[in-house]
Amino acid sequence: MGIEYQEPQSQLLTGNNDEWEIIIGLEVHAQVSSKAKLFSGSSTEFGTEPNNNVDFVDAAMPGMLPVLNEFCVEQAIRTGLGLKAKINTYSEFDRKNYFYPDLPQGYQISQLYHPVVGEGIVIVELGEGIARKVRIEHLHLEQDAGKSVHDMHPSLSFVDLNRTGVALMEIVSFPDLRSSEEAAAYILKLRQILRYLGTCDGNMQNGNLRADVNVSVRPYGSSQLNTRCEIKNMNSTRFIQQAIDYEARRQMALWESDQVVVQETRLYDPKTGKTRSMRSKEEAHDYRYFPCPDLLPLEISQEWIDSIHDSLPELPDELKNRLMRQYGITDYDANVLTAERENAEYFETVAQNRNGKIAANWVINELFGRLNKDSLDIFESPISPDQLGAILDILESGAISSKIAKELFEIVWLEGGDPHTIVTERQMKQVTDENAIAKIVKDVLADNPSQVEKFKVNPKLAGFFVGQVMKRTSGKANPELVNTIVQKQLAELQ
Ligand code: MN
Repeated sequence: MGIEYQEPQSQLLTGNNDEWEIIIGLEVHAQVSSKAKLFSGSSTEFGTEPNNNVDFVDAAMPGMLPVLNEFCVEQAIRTGLGLKAKINTYSEFDRKNYFYPDLPQGYQISQLYHPVVGEGIVIVELGEGIARKVRIEHLHLEQDAGKSVHDMHPSLSFVDLNRTGVALMEIVSFPDLRSSEEAAAYILKLRQILRYLGTCDGNMQNGNLRADVNVSVRPYGSSQLNTRCEIKNMNSTRFIQQAIDYEARRQMALWESDQVVVQETRLYDPKTGKTRSMRSKEEAHDYRYFPCPDLLPLEISQEWIDSIHDSLPELPDELKNRLMRQYGITDYDANVLTAERENAEYFETVAQNRNGKIAANWVINELFGRLNKDSLDIFESPISPDQLGAILDILESGAISSKIAKELFEIVWLEGGDPHTIVTERQMKQVTDENAIAKIVKDVLADNPSQVEKFKVNPKLAGFFVGQVMKRTSGKANPELVNTIVQKQLAELQ
């Protein structure tokens, strides 16, 4: 089941002699949602006092021994299943050796040779029925490093180890992306999946989701992969796009002037809009990886994988397809409603036993528009799904016009209460009594003799009288009925 997708066009750069294609692969570091770190019981809470969340393991005291946090493994498996990936029942932890002041161990515990999750897939939509299928190469678990602070003292640097040892999932894609726009869309899709799964909060501002971006270019039509550069540690999709666009042009200019692209790690500077060299790219052997002697291989039972699989929520692609099918809503609306799981849940409560298209329209245009205006999240909405549903029921019954329904929405937003009671108490019901409307029309015509004379010359002026009747009834008269009666009485005057 599902949508048939077309492959999108590659973003091409026009050089002096060739058209160039951009090849992009991403390594995303996603912080595992877990109260404790990967190998210690320290808290992972963000924003606490520096060095508050540090125990002997994190500080690498002599003789310390890491103890694997089972919940972090469960989160990695859950993520793997969400990426439709193969879960490896056997994996190992390796030491990646390097010196860094905020890494007291002198190595990072990671997984190089046997990662916990194998190949998977992410569908990145770029328009209706257009999507890139991005293959995941693997996902591995590893520790995060701490933070060096250089801007608090003129001659000293400080180290904050709160982040040291926090669990990361490194999600490595194949070089399947072909434009900066696709790279940004891929990260947002990955973020959406992680948030649905509850395995990473996706908070890019706090650095809980960040990407290393590998970029190379080649003449369009060529199948070889040229030397790539890695742009390190990006946590903004806008900057990622800018960095890729700059880097691709830089590399194209080098190739076209018979120079070579050197494999290296680069940094993007948002102030200049340029990337600059940080260090030459290390190879795996530079880190002298070897199996961590403190940790046994990780063996995962198929029963455990199956039980996690059974507990998976409905994921964005499946949810979107189901909403389109079940409620007859458009691709666009389904995308908006599934951006966050809570949005879709709200919508489904409103749409239950009601017209799905109308429900989608009200949730997206009125509710989201109003939430946006007050900078509120969906779970802070002053209007519950049941209250919105009641407004739609009253509208559907014909008791109020859609204009009055919007006024009712605003009253419920500001004051709360039961929409049915409000409509009755404030006499908001539509006037559908023909005699009552005919009487008002008659008064309006009698009060505006000069307009009636003008109408006799120009029949397009009938709208004026409809407007006057609506005004006198505070918008409560049924507009279609008013129009019919105005036309009838005017015709009698001709
Ligand atoms: Mn890493």
